[in-house]
Amino acid sequence: MRSLHPTFSTPFVAVDGGGVFPVHRIYCVGRNYADHALEMGGDPSREAPFFFSKPADAVIQGHAVPYPPKTADLHHEVELVLALGTGGSDLSLEEADAAIYGYAVGVDLTRRDLQAEAKSKGRPWDMAKGFDCSGPIGRIIVRSGDGPAPHSRIRLSIDGTEKQSGTLAQMIWSPAEIVANLSSYVELKPGDLIFSGTPAGVGPLARGQKVTAEIDGLPRLIFTIK
Ligand code: MN
Repeated sequence: MRSLHPTFSTPFVAVDGGGVFPVHRIYCVGRNYADHALEMGGDPSREAPFFFSKPADAVIQGHAVPYPPKTADLHHEVELVLALGTGGSDLSLEEADAAIYGYAVGVDLTRRDLQAEAKSKGRPWDMAKGFDCSGPIGRIIVRSGDGPAPHSRIRLSIDGTEKQSGTLAQMIWSPAEIVANLSSYVELKPGDLIFSGTPAGVGPLARGQKVTAEIDGLPRLIFTIK
């Protein structure tokens, strides 16, 4: 038997100030802001966090993001991304908090039409969420102290028009709670990224549109859909 010699390399994200963060896996939280849960038809008062994932090489840095095939309804979801420096299983809140190495602004790009079809048929979300280049992400800020303040604004604009706006305080589950909860399902590892949910205002993107995604204190993420 001949061996397959891999031609791929570990995906990575640039760290602000120099260096790179090698990406092991990408997890995402569904419905972590009450106003977005409501706009998607959910009930924010009773739903525990749930998780889905993207392939590690879904991350994309740079100013051009391709419009994916097989959709006519590509949506933006601006999110705080947690970058883990350590891992573990069944982490306490304190251990979960200490596992967070840094933070970035990300956009959980979504084929909303495929997601709606998957929901209605009880099928997996993978092709709605985990397609190529579905995770544009800004540079990672290495954490100092407590991380982004709860009053930090999170927002996304298209061609200069604001579409999503909120604060991190609106998150139903805090970063430490998300990491702790996820660690009860899987053993988390250094290099794992967690997209932590989006505020209300998600909507469609078209080719040629310029997206600006921002969280106070983090490097701004800007890209154009090609
Ligand atoms: Mn999302």
